[in-house]
Amino acid sequence: MEAAEFPDLLRAGTIGAASLCVATIPLDVVRHAVQAAISSKRPHPGLTEAFRAAASPPSGFFRGLVPALFCSAAGPAAFLLGYEVQRGSKEVLEAGLVAKAVQVAVVQPFDFFRTSWQAALLLPETRASHLLRGPWEVITTDGPRSLWRGLIPTLLRDAFAAGTFWSSYMYLNQVMLNDSSMEDVLRSAVHSGLARIQDLRSNFCSKPSLGWPAYRPAGASAMAPAEWICDLCQEVLLDPVTLPCCGESFCKTCLQQWTVVKLDDGAPRARCPSGCGKQIDYRLPSVSKLLRSWLEAEHASELAERRRDIRDQELEESIAGGFGLWQEVAASRDLFVGENLAVAFGTSGIVLARHEEGRVKVKFDFFLWGISGVFNVNPDELLPQLPGTFGVSIGQRVLASQDLIVASAVRVPFATLGTVVGPSSLPDRITVCFDTVTEGQNRLDVQAFEILPSTELIGGFKVGQRVSAVENILLEGVVLVPPGSVGTVLSQYSDTRLTVMFEGRLDGRSEAVNLVPTAITGINPS
Ligand SMILES: [Zn+2]
Ligand SMILES: [Zn+2]
Repeated sequence: MEAAEFPDLLRAGTIGAASLCVATIPLDVVRHAVQAAISSKRPHPGLTEAFRAAASPPSGFFRGLVPALFCSAAGPAAFLLGYEVQRGSKEVLEAGLVAKAVQVAVVQPFDFFRTSWQAALLLPETRASHLLRGPWEVITTDGPRSLWRGLIPTLLRDAFAAGTFWSSYMYLNQVMLNDSSMEDVLRSAVHSGLARIQDLRSNFCSKPSLGWPAYRPAGASAMAPAEWICDLCQEVLLDPVTLPCCGESFCKTCLQQWTVVKLDDGAPRARCPSGCGKQIDYRLPSVSKLLRSWLEAEHASELAERRRDIRDQELEESIAGGFGLWQEVAASRDLFVGENLAVAFGTSGIVLARHEEGRVKVKFDFFLWGISGVFNVNPDELLPQLPGTFGVSIGQRVLASQDLIVASAVRVPFATLGTVVGPSSLPDRITVCFDTVTEGQNRLDVQAFEILPSTELIGGFKVGQRVSAVENILLEGVVLVPPGSVGTVLSQYSDTRLTVMFEGRLDGRSEAVNLVPTAITGINPS
């Protein structure tokens, strides 16, 4: 309901209620007269008697019309005003109940006179005079508070009626709009009821309450609190992803679409849709599992339906080359735009969307041409990225972690550099192109442990580098390696130590030594 509609609604409500009041008041007169009548002859006073009494004169049918009209006119106005004031800050049900209470309190004095005056119809004059007192007489003799006699039972009755009305209205709404199964609806009704009771209890015990999330009027999921709604699609969060910049959550698919649109507009990165201004990574954080399982329990059927829709859409829009949306890929060769090298071989990226003419829209992590890194490429220009278990990615520089032997001869000596070129046709292996080999093919299918990422070690040393000791290397106080001894760096042992194999250990053993990098120096090969 928009603010502009409110006066119309109020007018319509008031006119409707007043007309209904005039039309039905004779029935009220008869009802109240019969209820209040005294009869010694029969157990129940006769309706005919009441009708006859009211009809002479016929204006008797409109006894108490003035207070009744006040009830009808003030009732809807009080309710709608009460509801409008709270709308937006309270849940529908709560706002409705409070508005109902306001209405009851406003109309109670009018209701009191209407009922009293109508009830006096069949009573003898001596008894009727008490009921036929005017407002001033009642206030002066009984006090002003007596105008609200019977307020508590009226409140209880109307609150119960209004609560039942709202609940069944929302229940039917949900059944018809969402086509939910009966079980889902009942479960969510029980859930929200329990949450409500817990909320009320914590309020009454005056413990600090987390508060009931604010009611959100607009959107398809009007029954869900604002915190559960994605700001991008205005629906209950599906696979919620919480952004680290501001902690706001969005549907995973909504964030992905947002990212694609922003990258398509030429931005190198999208900014956070919450408006916090921070750039967000196009590799999104993982789905918040706890939040997801909670939402799945609360909105099972709604979320299942959307998940189905998304899957159907993805099936319809299959991507050339069998790639999937948001799949990690790498350039299978150097990619050019005209004469310009745009993306180098091995550059990693992610599939954003399908493109016309069997092409694939990819966002590359590094690019030498253009401003966004988004390119529409042929499927054969892409390779699926290696699984994370290999610890290396396509295009990465690696080195042999040991002598690699092919047909009982060393093909690739330890520490030889190479480049990962892609997945192998053999399971659990990847293909590496080594810079030098002793003989034959320089492409080898290797296992994960046969290579190491070629990174600089502490002290600026490299795996396989020839070094010499600059001081006595001691083991338990005994000199193991004298200064000038030559060795080879095997690996980094810890954050502070390297593993080095020396050729002439004084104890004659051939075991590697762990030492700090200041104990050795590199030997210039020339
Ligand atoms: Zn943010
Ligand atoms: Zn969304």
